[in-house]
Amino acid sequence: MREIGHFIGGKEVKGTSGRTGDVFNPNTGEVQARVAFAKTSEVEHAVAVAEAAQPAWGAINPQRRARVMFKFLELIQAEYDDLARLLSSEHGKTFADSKGDIQRGLEVVEFACGIPNLMKGEYSEGAGPGIDLFSIRQPLGVVAGITPFNFPAMIPLWKAAPAIACGNAFILKPSERDPSVPMRIAELFLKAGLPAGVFNVVNGDKEAVDAILNDRRIQAVGFVGSSAIAEYIYAKGCAAGKRVQCFGGAKNHMIVMPDADMDQAVDALVGAGYGSAGERCMAVSVAVPVGQKTADALMKKLVPRVEGLKIGPSTDPNADYGPMVTRAHMNKVREYVDLGVKEGAKLVVDGRNFKLQGYENGNFMGGCLFDEVTPQMRIYKEEIFGPVLSVVRAKDYEEAVRLPSEHDYGNGVAIFTRDGDTARDFTSRVQVGMVGVNFAIPVPLSYYTFGGWKRSGFGDLNQHGPDSIRFYTKTKTVTARWPSGTKEGAEFVIPTMK
Ligand code: NAD
Repeated sequence: MREIGHFIGGKEVKGTSGRTGDVFNPNTGEVQARVAFAKTSEVEHAVAVAEAAQPAWGAINPQRRARVMFKFLELIQAEYDDLARLLSSEHGKTFADSKGDIQRGLEVVEFACGIPNLMKGEYSEGAGPGIDLFSIRQPLGVVAGITPFNFPAMIPLWKAAPAIACGNAFILKPSERDPSVPMRIAELFLKAGLPAGVFNVVNGDKEAVDAILNDRRIQAVGFVGSSAIAEYIYAKGCAAGKRVQCFGGAKNHMIVMPDADMDQAVDALVGAGYGSAGERCMAVSVAVPVGQKTADALMKKLVPRVEGLKIGPSTDPNADYGPMVTRAHMNKVREYVDLGVKEGAKLVVDGRNFKLQGYENGNFMGGCLFDEVTPQMRIYKEEIFGPVLSVVRAKDYEEAVRLPSEHDYGNGVAIFTRDGDTARDFTSRVQVGMVGVNFAIPVPLSYYTFGGWKRSGFGDLNQHGPDSIRFYTKTKTVTARWPSGTKEGAEFVIPTMK
């Protein structure tokens, strides 16, 4: 059995806690590897190694740090396909989707290549008599990232690339369900010239996470995962005096207006609802057609498309989506579908009993489609994170704006319409962090920031884009006077610029 340890100080090291987790092959349900679960002392050791490596790395000029990022991009590109296959083999998403996962991560590495420019400070000459005022950005020191299973390349890179480019040392605690890609990323950073100890991976579960939160040497923690854990980490990390940003779960609505291009809307719904088996924080899980006529027209086109979804192993190039990450997760999603039926929603397409010939023990689930879902139902309120789409029929546009705005989650939302006024009004009023207009998965590009509102995001700075530079640096402001001849004597009032 393959053993996966930790990556500390520039090399893979074996776990010493005696505790491990199973890493499954989602296509077959078999255990394919065992990943070590770090105990507190192993995390503490990784932090000590990072702390020792950080000052020299932070002192290197930013152009040289950027060169490591450029080299890292080249190395990933050289093994793109192998990395995508490795990602699929643990996550279950299709090969093409795994390449997308890596690509969206690399775009943030490309962004981080601009670090000499991004870290520039501000300077005001002559802010007072003989006085210059300037601000500089400095790295925080050792920072950590705790990441989810559903984007094992993209999210670790969203966290690590800006943090490292800013001159910090980084501790990554990736998901225990698909740890191999993060371990390979660590090797490639080293090969790209990153000094040993600047990027470290500790694998594990709650014990490793708590060790990160309790360690006073860690200055900032970035988290992505479910909202309950996000809230826990935010509260505990802030109480420990750290800078913390946590991104949580989602329930993304897609509004379909009566004037929408219905074929385009249906294409968008099946892709965004069922791609990656619905295991995306930006998946559309609620469709909101406006008016009964729109709803009927939408359902007429949507039902056959959901029934016709191609589900296959992650290695099948013709599959629309692959297996779910684990059997336990699939069972949880199935239970939500059972619950929806009990709550009185109309299950129009039932994928619960889908079996894939030759892969009977894989975590495959067919697409499920509910109609007549109401905001009171738990299947509407809670995140399901599977191939399940709920249709909530809104009587008018106002109700369609209210639904996502009043929902506990506020990650992404989309509106499909041909009317510019409606789109503009919706974009302005809706209480959600990322909005798509005729665009179902509005994940902003790396030079903008990514983040949800309400229970989808805790903390005041977003991921990537300019916010990431603010999050991973502290600002120092310097007031300097060099007037050799000016002598004003002691001043007992607060200095003002005369
Ligand atoms: P998860 O919350 O189970 O795990 C996330 C991380 O937290 C993992 O590293 C895990 O080991 C750790 N963890 C789990 N339980 C813990 C505990 N009790 N104490 C401390 N740490 C713990 O999430 P997941 O199932 O890996 O990922 C799916 C979730 O992530 C979904 O809710 C999805 O919406 C969310 N997500 C959000 C975004 C976003 O940007 N908002 C992006 C991707 C995924």
